[in-house]
Amino acid sequence: MYYTLKAKPKSIQYVKGVGPSKAKAFEKEGILTDVDLLYYFPRAYISRSSLQPIKQVFLKVLESKTYPTSYNFPIEIKEEVTVIGKVVEKKIQALHNNRKLLIVWIMDFDGSRAKILFWQYVEFYYKNFNVGEYVIVRGIPEVDKYNKVIFSHPEFEILDTGEERNFNEGSILPVYPIPVVFRNSRINNKSLRKIIGNAFQSALPIIEDYLPQSFLQKYNIPPLKESILRIHFPIEIDSVPNFWFRIKFDEIFVFELVIRLLRNLNKSVQKGPVLIPNFKLLGSFQKQLSFELTNDQKKAIDEIFSDLASGKAMNRLLQGDVGSGKTIVSVFALLLCVENGYQALIMAPTEILAEQHYLTLLNLLRSLPVRVELIVGSQTEKLRKQILTNVVNGSTNIIVGTHALFESKIRYNRLGLVVIDEQHRFGVDQRARLRQLGIESLDNSTLPHILVISATPIPRTLAMTLYGDLDVSIIRQMPKGRKQIHTRVIGESELQDLYQFVRKEIKEGRQAYFVYPLVEKSDKSDFKAAIEHFEILQNQIFPDLRCGLLYGTMPSIEKEKTMSRFKSKQFDILVSTTVIEVGIDVPNATIMVIENAERFGLSQLHQLRGRVGRGEFQSYCFLVTNDKLKNRISKKSKFSIDDEVAISRLLAMEENTDGFKIAEIDLSLRGPGDIIGTMQSGLPPFKYINFVTDGEIIAMAREIADELLNEDSNLDSFPSLKKIVEEVSNSKRYFSVG
Ligand code: ADP
Ligand code: MG
Repeated sequence: MYYTLKAKPKSIQYVKGVGPSKAKAFEKEGILTDVDLLYYFPRAYISRSSLQPIKQVFLKVLESKTYPTSYNFPIEIKEEVTVIGKVVEKKIQALHNNRKLLIVWIMDFDGSRAKILFWQYVEFYYKNFNVGEYVIVRGIPEVDKYNKVIFSHPEFEILDTGEERNFNEGSILPVYPIPVVFRNSRINNKSLRKIIGNAFQSALPIIEDYLPQSFLQKYNIPPLKESILRIHFPIEIDSVPNFWFRIKFDEIFVFELVIRLLRNLNKSVQKGPVLIPNFKLLGSFQKQLSFELTNDQKKAIDEIFSDLASGKAMNRLLQGDVGSGKTIVSVFALLLCVENGYQALIMAPTEILAEQHYLTLLNLLRSLPVRVELIVGSQTEKLRKQILTNVVNGSTNIIVGTHALFESKIRYNRLGLVVIDEQHRFGVDQRARLRQLGIESLDNSTLPHILVISATPIPRTLAMTLYGDLDVSIIRQMPKGRKQIHTRVIGESELQDLYQFVRKEIKEGRQAYFVYPLVEKSDKSDFKAAIEHFEILQNQIFPDLRCGLLYGTMPSIEKEKTMSRFKSKQFDILVSTTVIEVGIDVPNATIMVIENAERFGLSQLHQLRGRVGRGEFQSYCFLVTNDKLKNRISKKSKFSIDDEVAISRLLAMEENTDGFKIAEIDLSLRGPGDIIGTMQSGLPPFKYINFVTDGEIIAMAREIADELLNEDSNLDSFPSLKKIVEEVSNSKRYFSVG
């Protein structure tokens, strides 16, 4: 929310209708002033015309709509409805085992009746209803065996006489989200409507639109104050989206401006080491490479090399699906850096992965005069000391590590390039910190180049906004000869067949992963645990095969041992938690079994599946779930709301292998907030904008931001906007440009 204020806003406790207890509740939700209240927007409206006659609701439930989705199976969407009725009867029914049920009968204007049911807090709700009063009910309707419309624990609101009159005169009532803290302090829709109405009187006059009127007219953007007012209290429902446009536009527009300004700044002033190929190392490396690079890999290398030679510090994102061969691209960059006499660093999010990179590099570079060193937290003091000496005196060329690379004891020697693998696991601060270490090791005016690598393919609208400060190289092609991974959802009763299949593959020399959601069995959940199932698999199911066990909290040394044993085929099966989700590369492993697959996120499933299909062999992914869910999938029958998202994920996995497509489906199933959260910590929270449905607004904000900066690169003719943009960019924690 962006605005400038003419005067100080009123503290929440002084808004009329807000006592100390309510004030506390508001503060808990981040609402500190009357102005904040204006930005607490309704999530729905009720008006006479939005109400549905109970008779119509009845028919609707019987029809029970299903919607086709983009991936070929129907999802039943249960829609909320709003009805109004007069309370005609209420009674508490005793059930067996001492439980009680409250039934409230309401009757609408047509004379149709519906039942409202409460199974919990029966006495409390009983007191809420009085025969003769009008009540608005909002919830998901069902029809019971007596053919009556029922609502179980719906949202409801008793109208008082004043409101009843307003309502009958056709006004539109906003419906606000009521979190538990509100409910506990008796803030309900009725009181909130009054409080927000009061806040308007003091807050609206002090809000100033930070966009000049001429600008608003030019782009046909509604004024801020009117937008806020009409979202809360619309004159007609149809105009609400237009006013929402303004609020969403503000959020994304300011963000786009900040990113552009930071980026321009970044491009103009930051000097980086000039790195030009002399082929002292790259020459022999290319010759000994055992495969041909894909065109996308070549293109990415070209883009990176031209950045590195430019004299400006690179800030590039290398994006590509799991298994597309990003590591080798980064090795080219590392070698270019080393052959120019600079140190290079590659950072991974876990010790397992750092270790793997270390081994990969040792192997790839074994015939070259390049010294590679590993820095991880679990090393002994003595070993670490030796390594640090080699790093600071410059005899180490490439340093691989985890977070341990930040430690203040470490002094680098002419650090020219920082590669950050699986960058969504790192915060923005950490990137800035690494950059700082680099500057100190150079001449204090030069920055190291930065290459961040991400296997999270993200849809375009999101990418352009999230990574607006980075240049992007994308690898879409998979290396030649890769076969599509066969993916199947199976029920637990099919596990015996699966075991046989696994046995057969292992006989042919392949290896398998079994992944579980938990490390240890827990009383709190029914999910399967790796340790327990390791025992079962090793002792009962595959006593003749060799199983290894891997989980995150194991001592690092053990983890490394297990991993390298699996790699060198001393284990046939690796039983694991999601620690193997990221980066692990064992091309001989062809089977991925994921148990309790229904509880994993889609992109997590995709990452896990990416552990197989990394070599020439046909690979398989089995998503094991309970039989109940599996049967529903087979029958493509109607799903309950609880299951439908889980089922959508599993089916999306069966039907798609392209990470970009999967990311899009993920986005539509989860909403962007979630994805951004897992992708990169430290981004501004997008409160209003929705990356799936607001693509047009995002595109428009982007265009206008470009146009505006072309005309007025310092925003000098937009002083209020400039001030806001400066404030946001000074709180640098949100942005990755240091
Ligand atoms: P990711 O992009 O998931 O990090 P990696 O860089 O680990 O993928 O590469 C996956 C596997 O593919 C590795 O074993 C790597 O050696 C191999 N590989 C990379 N590029 C090619 C290529 N052009 N042709 C064949 N194999 C390749
Ligand atoms: Mg990788």
